[in-house]
Order: sequence, then structure tokens, then C-alpha cells
Amino acid sequence: MQSWTRPAVPALPGAGIVPRIFDAASQALVEAHPHQSTPTLASIYVCGITPYDATHLGHAATYLAFDTLIRVWMDAGFEVRYVQNTTDIDDPLLERAARDGVDWRDLAASQIELFRGDMEKLGIIPPDEYVAVTEVIADVADAVKILVQNGSAYSVTSPDAADDLYFDSSFAVPAWHLGQESALDRPRMLELSAERGGDPQRPGKRDPLDPLLWRSERAGEPAWDSSLGRGRPGWHIECSVIALEHLPTPLTVNGGGRDLVFPHHEFSAGHAAALTGHPLAGIYAHAGMVAYQGEKMSKSLGNLVLVSRLVAGGADPRSIRLALLSERYRSDWEWTDAHLRIADDRLASWTAWAASPTEDADDEFLTELRERLADDLDTAGAIAAIDARICGGTAASKTAVSAIDALLGIRL
Ligand code: ZN
Repeated sequence: MQSWTRPAVPALPGAGIVPRIFDAASQALVEAHPHQSTPTLASIYVCGITPYDATHLGHAATYLAFDTLIRVWMDAGFEVRYVQNTTDIDDPLLERAARDGVDWRDLAASQIELFRGDMEKLGIIPPDEYVAVTEVIADVADAVKILVQNGSAYSVTSPDAADDLYFDSSFAVPAWHLGQESALDRPRMLELSAERGGDPQRPGKRDPLDPLLWRSERAGEPAWDSSLGRGRPGWHIECSVIALEHLPTPLTVNGGGRDLVFPHHEFSAGHAAALTGHPLAGIYAHAGMVAYQGEKMSKSLGNLVLVSRLVAGGADPRSIRLALLSERYRSDWEWTDAHLRIADDRLASWTAWAASPTEDADDEFLTELRERLADDLDTAGAIAAIDARICGGTAASKTAVSAIDALLGIRL
């Protein structure tokens, strides 16, 4: 599938710093260095949207966090390979389309288009491969077949259809066991499974936590022909298959919003390990949740702040970007209208400062910016460093202006 136009990223003098970022599996800051099998290639898979409420600021903040990581990696001299999916077939999409009386395909296509446009306006580096699940259904079915053959998948009967297939979460390989990626205890896993697309109550499963791999065709639901018969994939296996198809594993980073820690990333890693015998990723990184008016943004609460709506209202996309970068990516935080006002003022101040840059080398500034971002992508700290420089009366250099463009994606 087509992604979106790549922003120009200026090269900077000297060598950038390999970043340390927080890994959910080890619950520690880890150097985000490529695996030794591909020492100069940083690989990243970021879970894409389910296209029905794009692009609210929570989405934008997540993709911006990984855009920042990619910029830091590029500056550190790595080649970067980036893959993202879009979950253009899943229960939440079908439910939303039914509720709104629209065809699920039209809903997905229009939301993906909106998402691409928003990402481009925000200057977010596009994935090298942007893959829709509906493009890889046969591949997912073939992978599930391997899981059946190696004993990690089993059938669950259904009264109104052929058997469905589930993953046996007690299947342990050296590369994975249940809880390895999410570092959660079982009661919390059960809670999250019920909240986030799992079906712990379904009879016939070996363990309530076992996730769906393949749903056989139901009357009135979309289904595809495959080596498993007609049906459609479960949620987690799609990401395992797309990542394995397009990237060397272990990935340097598997990323997404924090609501993907469990069950999604846990089982994407489990499925991939059951398919290959190897870990899916070295680091599992998550962006925090963005709230508005006291609640996590969601369409059902009516508190979505959409990028497209802010832009249509006259907001400069650079201000939206700067507002999002003013918060730490890993924190949960609340968007307020003041975020955009402050970012507008800051952008005006930075732009005035950058109007007549000097030719000075400005190594000190570059090092400071690099150090901030290498410290778990501390964009807020980087912004504070730039503010302090302006407040202190230090003239802008061409290097500084390029660094703000290359590392923060703000072209002044
Ligand atoms: Zn995913």
C-alpha cells in the first residue's frame, strides 16, 4: 500500500548518539542498538491504526515518538528500515461501520487516506513498507497453518461456523513465554484481555488468555479464501507475519501505544517466536496515552481532538508537532487548548531567532540536543534547551537551525 511523502531530513556534522529507550519487557532503559546480525541496520515495526477514528492526537503522539527515534538513529549513522501495518479488517472496524451505517471498506479507505494526509502534514517519516492486513491474509493463514503443525495452535468449535483457531499461550519456546514481553501478572492480563479485544469468556479454550489466530467465516461477515478455508485473521498474528515478512528479526524495536502492551505485543511476540524460534524484538517501546477533558481520547466519549480538525481551524502543523513534542513520549498526559497556544508562541519565537543564522560551528548546541534526545527521547528537554539558548541571547547558527529540523522535524 502507498504510504506518504517523506520529509527532507538534513544531515548534521559529526556523529549522533545511539539512544537509550525504555523497554517494557525488561522494564529498563536499554541502548537501542541494532542486533549484532545487522549491526548498521536499525529495524522498527510500529503497529498502525485500526482505521476508524484517525487521526486523533493520541495517534499523532505515538507516531511522532517513533519518528523521533528514527531521526535519532539516522543521526547516529544507522540505516533504518521501518514497517507499519494498518488493521483494515477487525471487529472494532466492523462494529463502527455497522453503527454508522457505512461499508467497512469505505470507512477504512477514507480513514487511511485521512491518516496519511495528517502524517504528511506533521512531517512524520513514513514507513518503508505500509501494509494493510487485507493485503496479506493468505500469508497470515499460511503462518497459522505452521502454528497448527508445530502444536502451538488448536481448534475451538463454534455452533454457527467451522472451527476457529487459537494460540496456546502455554506454548513455550526459549525465545518466549507468556508474560515475557508485557511483564504483567496473570490477573492483570485477564483484565486487559477482556478490555482489549480478547475473549476470555469463550468456552472451549485451553486458557482464557489464549488469543484468536483465525476466525472462520460467519454469515454477514467479510471472509477470504485461504489455505485454512474461508475466514479472517486474528489481530496479533497479522503484525507478527508482516514484521517477519519485511524486516530482519529480532527487530531493534517493536513499538506502539501503551494500550498495546497486552495482549497485542505480548502475543505478536509469542506468535513470531513460535514461528521462527527467535525473539521478535530486542526492545518493546510504548508511547503514553493522551487524554482530553479528563479522559483518554475516544470517539465514544466524544473527546477526540483530530489533527485534521486543528489544521482546518488554522493551526500550523509545526505548532501541533511542537505541542506534542513538549511532553515526554512515555508519559500519560492531557492535551489542553493551551498546548497549542504555547506552541504557537514558541514557534514564533524560534522562527524570529532563526531568521539570520550565523556560520558558527555550534558543536556545543548540537551535543546538547543529541544528548537530550538520546536520553529516552527527551524532546521536552531538547525544547527547553533551545528556549534557554534563545532566552540567554545566543544567536542562532545554521547548524542549530538544521539540527532542529533534522532531530525535531521543525523547519524554521
Ligand atoms: Zn501490531
